[in-house]
Amino acid sequence: MFEALQEQPKDKILALMQMYRDDPRMTKIDLGVGVYKNADGHTPIMRAVKTAEQQWWNREDTKTYVGLAGDPAFNDAMVDLVLSDSVMRDNVASIATPGGTGAVRQGFELIRMASSKAVIWVSDPTWPNHISILKYLGMPTRTYRYFNAQTGTVNFEGMRQDLSEAKPGDVVLLHGCCHNPTGANLTMDQWGQLVTLMQDKDLKPMIDIAYQGFGDGLDEDAAATRLVASSLPETLIAASCSKNFGIYRERTGILMAVAQGESVKMAQDNMAFLNRQNYSFPPDHGARLVTLILSDDNLRADWQAELKDVRNGMLRLRTALAGELKRLTNSDRFDFLANHRGMFSRLGLTTDQVETLRSDHAIYMVGDSRINIAGLNDDTIPVLAKAIVKVAS
Ligand code: PMP
Repeated sequence: MFEALQEQPKDKILALMQMYRDDPRMTKIDLGVGVYKNADGHTPIMRAVKTAEQQWWNREDTKTYVGLAGDPAFNDAMVDLVLSDSVMRDNVASIATPGGTGAVRQGFELIRMASSKAVIWVSDPTWPNHISILKYLGMPTRTYRYFNAQTGTVNFEGMRQDLSEAKPGDVVLLHGCCHNPTGANLTMDQWGQLVTLMQDKDLKPMIDIAYQGFGDGLDEDAAATRLVASSLPETLIAASCSKNFGIYRERTGILMAVAQGESVKMAQDNMAFLNRQNYSFPPDHGARLVTLILSDDNLRADWQAELKDVRNGMLRLRTALAGELKRLTNSDRFDFLANHRGMFSRLGLTTDQVETLRSDHAIYMVGDSRINIAGLNDDTIPVLAKAIVKVAS
C-alpha cells in the first residue's frame, strides 16, 4: 500500500534548519527556526522549570493516566494566565493538548464538527502550519490582508475591507500577540474596532496565542485576547507553553472555548471527545511543570523574572538592529523593527535577496525574510545590518 503514497510538501523552516546544520562556514548565523536562543545561541531550560522538575521528581509516585481533558489544575492555571478575570471560569471549556499546534488542530476540528461550512479567515501572511493543517483537514479557508511590507506595519484598512466580506458564522483566526511571521501587531484601538466588526457581522474569533510574555508583558500580551473573549459570546483560544516556559519538546498547550449557557458543557464534552479520538490522554509532564510554577509564589516570581529578561533582551536586540540599520542607510526604512514585538520580524526583502544573504553571507532566514530576533547577539547585529544593506541596495 505504501507505494501509493505521494510526496508531501516539505516544511520550509525545517528544511532551512537542515541546510544551516550542513553549512561548514564558521561565520554562519541562524535566524530561521522559531526557538528562543540566548546570546550564546543556546536554548536554556528556565530556572523555575528545572526547580519544578526536581520537586516533581521527588513527589511523583505514579504514572497512571490523568484526565482526558488534562489535569484540571493545569487547565485552571492556564485559563487564569491567559484570560485572568475577563470572563467567568464557568464559561470556559478547556482541554490540555500536545503543544500549541495540538490546540490549533483540535480547535479547527471542533469548528469543523460544529459548522462544516464556516470559512476560516487567516491573515496574509500567517504561520504556515495554520494553512497546512486547514488544507489537510479540507476546511474552507480565505485570507485577509494583514501586512504592509513597505512600511512594516499592519494594513488595518485592508484587513477590515477583506473581513467585511465574511459571512455570519465564519471564523477569524487571529494571533493574540507577537504576530508570526511579521512581528507587526494591532493596536488596542484597532482590536476594539475589530471586535465591533466581528460583533456586527456575527463572526467567530479563534485566537492563537503562542508568545504570551514575549512582547510587552504577560498581561499586556493577553489584553487583546481578554478583550475579544469578554466582548463576544463565543471565542476559541489556542495557547502554547512552548515559548514562554521554554518547554518546546514537552508538548504543552491548551485549547479553550469561551461559550454561554449549555454550550459550555457541549463544547467541553466534544473537546474531550476529540482528545480521545486523536491521542486519548494529552501529555502531562510539561503541563505539570507549568501548574507547579504558576501555583507557587516563589517559582512564579522567578519564572516571571526570567521571562522578563528574555523579553527585554529581545527588545534590546530589536532596538540595536534598527539603530544600526538607521546608521548605515541614513534612513528610517527599518525603524519598524523596533516597533515590532515578539521573536519575529519580516524584513521586507525579496526571495532573491534572502537567497543572497544565505549564499554570500551565511545568514539564514525564512524565504519570506522573517528573522528570529533571538538568533542575534551584539556581535552579529553589525554583520547582519551590513549584509542587509548590501543586498537591499
Ligand atoms: N502558533 C504559532 C503562531 C506559532 O508560531 C507556534 C510555534 N511555532 C505555534 C502555534 C505552536 O507551537 P508549539 O506547538 O510548539 O507549542
